[in-house]
Amino acid sequence: MSGARILDGKSVAADVRAEVRQGVTALVARGVEPSLVVVLVGDDPASHVYVRNKDKAATEAGFAVRTVRLEAATPQAELERVVRGLSEDRSVHGILVQMPLPKGLDAQRVIALIDPRKDVDGLTPENVAALVMGRPGHRPCTPAGCLVLLDRHDVPLEGRHVVVIGRSMLVGKPFSLLALERNATVTVAHSRTRDLPDHVRRADVVVAAVGRPELVRGDWIAPGAVVLDVGINRTAEGKLLGDVEFGAARERASLITPVPGGVGPMTIAMLLANTLEAARALSKSLVR
Ligand code: NAP
Repeated sequence: MSGARILDGKSVAADVRAEVRQGVTALVARGVEPSLVVVLVGDDPASHVYVRNKDKAATEAGFAVRTVRLEAATPQAELERVVRGLSEDRSVHGILVQMPLPKGLDAQRVIALIDPRKDVDGLTPENVAALVMGRPGHRPCTPAGCLVLLDRHDVPLEGRHVVVIGRSMLVGKPFSLLALERNATVTVAHSRTRDLPDHVRRADVVVAAVGRPELVRGDWIAPGAVVLDVGINRTAEGKLLGDVEFGAARERASLITPVPGGVGPMTIAMLLANTLEAARALSKSLVR
């Protein structure tokens, strides 16, 4: 049977998590207790599941994890006070404010209060600027995970045409910048893009981050292309589908991520990697 090789996010994520665990153990041996605090506001069921998964993964990796739970009706000023306090707390190395926040709360103002060194989601203005400028900083977890997935399957980006579909601050935009940093030629498509299939047909690497089940048809994929499917879409029957028509795309691609089990597991793995990096850097800067 023909078909692409699978870009196996589960197994790469397990490797990254094991490496992080070793790093955490080494820090603990030096007397540092790497810690992550998750701030969860309100009672969005999906957010609760995500936070539980992050808590579990971080605990397994050896981090001290704490979740600060706040009511949906928490005033902006109170949430800002909590985040400012965590930024100032020397025992905290990583801070994550689970999105989306309940209506009425200004997420951008809250994110801006996270100490950029503790911003393990890579979303503060300082870390976004660092990404744009090609300077060191925390990178957003999902696009960073895509890059690690490519690296560990020996897929170089230099000189290749990468078509990113989606331009969100969380995935599409940062991945485009990361690919550019790797010397790819990058096309960023979005909802106003004309002739999307034609763009995709010219791609060596396709990254779909849209949130529309199977928007990218298999016959758009150039023979031998590499396909990263970031989309997570739940059908009425409860099945998970990506943004790419997996079966048909697999017939043409050389490498492709499945959904689930592709990009998804990498996101949490990179959160752990960023938290370890934060703990290393902060513990160094605090020891004089
Ligand atoms: P988002 O903020 O809703 O952005 C979606 C992007 O897709 C927008 O830039 C939008 O264009 C574009 N778009 C919408 N319809 C389009 C169309 N017909 N043709 C081309 N582009 C179109 O979503 P996101 O946060 O980036 O997430 C995207 C998907 O990835 C979702 O399914 C989400 O669940 C999933 N996700 C997965 C992970 C993971 O860990 N695997 C992490 C994050 C997100 P405009 O800008 O013009 O509106």
